[in-house]
Formats: sequence, structure tokens, C-alpha cells
Amino acid sequence: MKAAVLYEIGAPLKIEDVTLDEPQDNEVLIKLEATGVCHTDLHFMKGEMPTPVPVVPGHEGAGIVEKVGPGVTTLKPGDHVILMVAFNCGKCRYCYEGRPTMCVENLPIQMMATLPGGGMRLHKGDQAIHHLFGLACYAEKVVVHERSAVKIREDAPMEVVCLLGCGTSTGIGTAINTTKIKAGESIAIFGCGGVGLSAVMGAKLAGARIIAVDALDSKLEKAKELGADYTINATKEDPQLRIPEILGGGADYALEFVGNVDVMTKALGCIRAGGILIVAGMAPLTSILNIMPFEFLIGKTITGAVQGDVIPQIDIPRYVDLFMEGKLPIDKLITKTYKLDQINEAYEALEKGEIIRSVIKM
Ligand code: ZN
Ligand code: ZN
Repeated sequence: MKAAVLYEIGAPLKIEDVTLDEPQDNEVLIKLEATGVCHTDLHFMKGEMPTPVPVVPGHEGAGIVEKVGPGVTTLKPGDHVILMVAFNCGKCRYCYEGRPTMCVENLPIQMMATLPGGGMRLHKGDQAIHHLFGLACYAEKVVVHERSAVKIREDAPMEVVCLLGCGTSTGIGTAINTTKIKAGESIAIFGCGGVGLSAVMGAKLAGARIIAVDALDSKLEKAKELGADYTINATKEDPQLRIPEILGGGADYALEFVGNVDVMTKALGCIRAGGILIVAGMAPLTSILNIMPFEFLIGKTITGAVQGDVIPQIDIPRYVDLFMEGKLPIDKLITKTYKLDQINEAYEALEKGEIIRSVIKM
């Protein structure tokens, strides 16, 4: 089968014929229909986050279960599934606490780029190939652990709902789950790419007052279309001055999706005393955040979230239902679709900011 392989950090992906092994214990083989093109992979491909090579990236996959390995109880052939970027084991303290995106197995899988337990089912000749996030969705098929896949309704279009595997659910979940925002509370959303715009949609569902902040007017227009009440172009106006003008004070919550420490500092300045800043943007691993400790003396909180604190088995099918009912128009994020052999073109367009999100149709 075909897969897009990263052989060297910083190099383009190479479309290769590779071998995929049969699913082992608790694993499933899925024929992918679509995979979202997400910025997160780019951080690994460019070396801003570490990954072993060769590796197949791609973590926003959706497809149909073709085969199940021994011991699989939650899925069967024919099931439609979305693959989740954050693995959860179901057995650690975080999983028991109802915080599965914090699972202790998640980070090792990310760092080693293998299936849970260290297995690799991809080969090119004798050479084993890693699975980024335990997935490897830039391929026609994947073998993954059954707990990496969430069953969804069969009438949902895979080329749209695949986005819920990572970026979109991160945005929606951060806005709703992490904040626990109530109707009428205010939220400033910094960064209106695919994740930030998903947060706008989530905050809209929750009845919040939404201020979207970005450097590009085109993205702010999209934010307005998806439910932002106010927009601020941070290259033209200072959000720290403009937000108090709009709200009569700082925002109750700020979400940072840019992954830029200067934006994080600015966002902290934009919340009210006692307000909460949630950092969800992925800054390069070595960057350092500088803040005034005085901010803590007026009761501000800075916290983070992994994948919007979603509980995949509950939240993902729910977000799919909301999309199907027209309440969560995540299809509006998709600017373009590509074929697998156009993957490098898709990333170039993403880096240039030409598109909000694109999807590879297998
Ligand atoms: Zn766990
Ligand atoms: Zn992603």
C-alpha cells in the first residue's frame, strides 16, 4: 500500500509502497478514507518536536475497520471510525479520573512514534517505519490499537469528520470542557486557524461572548462567520486596550492557539483579575514564557490542556451529531482537498497560510 514517509527531518515526505503487517492483539486494521492535514505533524517534520525516522505522520484519519486482531472487543469489521491523536489506556490514574487525554501512555507513544507497547507494523523491506502518534494516517491503511479509534455513525462524511481526531476537537473541547464556560461569559480566542476557529464554534454553542484575535483579516472574517461577536486584528489594534473597551474589563477566559510566547503574554494581559488563560498552542519545545508574577497576585490562572480535555468515546460521537444537525459547521474549515501524492503541496499551502484546513482523500 501507499504511504507518505518522512526519512529525514526537514525533508519532504516521500510517497512509497510499504508493507503493513496484520493486526496483533487488541489492534485493528482500518482502510482510511480521509486524513486531515494538521500543523502538529509539521512541528515534528521540521524538527521543532522530536520524532524518530523513518516515520509516517498523519493523525486525523477516518475510515472503515477491515480486520480486527485477537482480543478486540470494541470494534468489528465494517465499523466507521475516527482515529484519535491522544491515546488513552483506560487503566492509569488519569484515565480513571476521567481525564483520558492526560493518559500516562500518551507521551511515550508520541516520543517513540510506535503503537502502544512499542510495536511497529509498517515496513519498507527490512526497515521498520514508525507511526507518529501511534497512528500513521498518511497512508491508504493503518494498523492501530483499538483504543486509538472511536466508532461513529455511518452517515457522517469521513472527509469532514476526520478533523475531529485532533485539531477540531481540541478547539471545541478547550472552549467548552477546559473552561466550563457559561452562557454570557466572555472568551478571547487568540489565533484563528483551524483550532481557534473550532474554539469559536464551541464557545458559540455554549452561548459565550466571543472576541477573536488574529493577524489576518481573512481569518477574522471566518471567525465572525462562525460566531465571533467581535474581532481584533492584533497588527492594527492592541487587544489589551481594545478588549476592555468592548467588555468593560478583561475577558473571563483567554485561549492561546498560536504557540507563540509573546501572544501568550499578551493574552494573559487581556483577562480580568481572577480570569483564566489556557495555553493550547504548540510553541517550539525550547521556548520560554516570560510573565509578570504580579498577575498571580490578582488571581489570574495560567493552565494548559491536552486535546481540549475531550473524553473521546463520549465527545467525538456527540460532536459528529452536532455537525450532522448543522450546529457545528466544521466543514466550513476545509478550504481544499488533496490526494495522498499531493501531501507536500498541501503542507506548503498550510505553511503559507493560504488555507485554513485541508484534507487528503485516499
Ligand atoms: Zn491511561
Ligand atoms: Zn492535529
